[in-house]
Amino acid sequence: MQWLTPSYRRGDKINLSIHALLVETPTHKIVIDTGVGNAKRRKWDLFNELDTDFLARLDEVCPRNEVDMVICTHLHNDHVGWNTQFVDGRWVPTYPDARYCFVRSEYDYWTKYVNDPATVDSYTEYAQDALDGHEVYRDSIAPIVEAGLVDWVEPDREVVPGVTLVSTPGHTPGHVSVLLQSGEQSAVISGDVFHTQAQVGRLDWSVQMDSAPDEAAETRRIFLERFADTSTLVLGTHFGTPTGNYIRRDRDSFKLLPAES
Ligand SMILES: [Zn+2]
Repeated sequence: MQWLTPSYRRGDKINLSIHALLVETPTHKIVIDTGVGNAKRRKWDLFNELDTDFLARLDEVCPRNEVDMVICTHLHNDHVGWNTQFVDGRWVPTYPDARYCFVRSEYDYWTKYVNDPATVDSYTEYAQDALDGHEVYRDSIAPIVEAGLVDWVEPDREVVPGVTLVSTPGHTPGHVSVLLQSGEQSAVISGDVFHTQAQVGRLDWSVQMDSAPDEAAETRRIFLERFADTSTLVLGTHFGTPTGNYIRRDRDSFKLLPAES
């Protein structure tokens, strides 16, 4: 895939990131996915007990008490971490004035997983460690439910004017992407439909954390067919700079075009 170089691939490394995205509409300030969070005990070193200045930097552009909605594309650890923060010995909502939008089927899946992992899709040991499902549920999901801050939502609905959840299952059962529309302009936050830019050209490449790899590949095909050769900006939740891209057909496949080019 020659198109990966140089925008997305530097040497043998591909440029990835973990984004929490702030969206301002005329009526709402929305954080879409919350990142890894601080002080979370995780099996992966990459995510374990982070101590970053994320909240201070967010406060510079949008004070937390002005955030009135949080949307989680799915309930994996790198998307729900800053749902909560550790204060006075317990996990409390980071955005106490916000409503948190959880897809009901996604929550039900993780509840089932926590109660009996054997009853849901069988993950590899690597994936189990990466997901860290029990800890994530305990410190980042349950406290939001217990605080009564959840709005249970269904895919393929507009949650506020101009913001629509698009069902994109396969990485997880209730996974959604987020379509943003303003007049003639549109953008879509892909979530984990793609983990790396390379999957735009190789739809069949799955990650071990996919709950249903075949469905994930089919979701990528549907997503790419829908947005290819359109003016919809695609914001990759795990795409490093350039995070904003357009999708273009590339013979019998697809490729990305950086938005700034
Ligand atoms: Zn992710």
